[in-house]
Amino acid sequence: MANSDNNRRKFMATTLQSVGLTALGGLLWSGYCDEAKASPLVLRPPGALQEDDFLKACIKCGLCAEACVNRESNKNRDGTQRDGTLKMAKGGDHKLIGTPYFIPTDVPCYMCDDIPCVPVCPSGALDMKSLLNEKEELDINRAKMGLAVVHKESCVAFWGLQCDACYRACPLLDEAITLEYQKNERTGKHAFLLPVVHSNVCTGCGLCEKACITEKPAIFVLPREHSMGKAGDHYVKGWDKKDQQRVGDRKADEIETHNERSDQAPSDYLNREIEY
Ligand code: SF4
Ligand code: SF4
Ligand code: SF4
Repeated sequence: MANSDNNRRKFMATTLQSVGLTALGGLLWSGYCDEAKASPLVLRPPGALQEDDFLKACIKCGLCAEACVNRESNKNRDGTQRDGTLKMAKGGDHKLIGTPYFIPTDVPCYMCDDIPCVPVCPSGALDMKSLLNEKEELDINRAKMGLAVVHKESCVAFWGLQCDACYRACPLLDEAITLEYQKNERTGKHAFLLPVVHSNVCTGCGLCEKACITEKPAIFVLPREHSMGKAGDHYVKGWDKKDQQRVGDRKADEIETHNERSDQAPSDYLNREIEY
């Protein structure tokens, strides 16, 4: 009898171990899958290095997110903390697990003057130097977390309706977003007031995205590498003396263009049918 009890206990222990190991394996596998599916469209805290360097430097300690949620200005009337802007990615978020990010439509970055999330970073993944102004003071206006992009077809201001919600929500009003006046030729007596984002000023805080009145925001923030184009060094602004100087100082063979056709002879690609 004692023998059969022992066998039953052993059997139960082995079964539980197997179930535990399977569950752990599942967890690790789902974590791996989540990392493999990690979206490149992720917004990082102010001062974050370029994404590749950021991922190498961030030690996933969570101090930035902790400072963000505990910041002085983040309290409800009863003194309790509100949700912070920064979250630490967990399984199912489709971000690299353990790294900080934010989603403007949940909680945008409020562009705190003292930027508490940055000095606490022990690894340099959030670079204080990139946020220093001429007076060597931390300046949140220097942040480049992303860039707001306007989708004209869904922005009702482009339909001629009066809306300036994003413009008014912007902490850098009349600098990061301006309203461009255009005559409404259809009615002949109304005007369009169109939001225009200026990439040299926009910090990517996402307050405009949060404020947008459309069902799905018509203005939204993307990481700058996904929202900005690049003309290439070989284009010169003829009206800009500095730009002319830049190219004038370089020898012709130092100017390189890299694209699909640049390694081919012009006669090759001009005479071949273009495949799309
Ligand atoms: S600057 Fe933005 S991310 Fe940093 S603590 Fe303030 S709200 Fe949070
Ligand atoms: S404080 Fe720095 S190292 Fe720690 S999670 Fe935030 S970015 Fe990563
Ligand atoms: S993200 Fe929007 S609200 Fe923030 S600075 Fe840029 S334009 Fe202004």
